[in-house]
Amino acid sequence: MYDDVLNEAFKAMENAYAPYSNYHVGACVKLKNSTYIWGANIENASFGVTNCAERSAIFATYSQGYRKDDIEALAIVSDGDRVAAPCGACRQVLCELLAGDTPIVLSNKKETVVTNIKELLPFQFTTEDVCR
Ligand SMILES: [Zn+2]
Repeated sequence: MYDDVLNEAFKAMENAYAPYSNYHVGACVKLKNSTYIWGANIENASFGVTNCAERSAIFATYSQGYRKDDIEALAIVSDGDRVAAPCGACRQVLCELLAGDTPIVLSNKKETVVTNIKELLPFQFTTEDVCR
């Protein structure tokens, strides 16, 4: 069911820039209009400014003018032994930029998990908390 977006994410993973961790991650946003927007992890010698693949993909999606209602699914893939679940920072970003029930598909080719940001980040801190 998610083969297309997973395949695109694995292609995006080939663009990862990970000379420090050698941990390659790819992501792909699939839009409802069947556009695919890639992201890859981009590391930096100053580790704090490294950008995760899923944030690269979702920021690229928004940069192109799309919003959460345009997104059909997000795939995040890795070459690790376990599926790559989003880190805490990415979960916070995704809870604002992705609809709560949008499928998030995680895979490392050996295992695939389908979840969403509501499951990954319950009890969220959102725009509703700061914009009263
Ligand atoms: Zn992350």
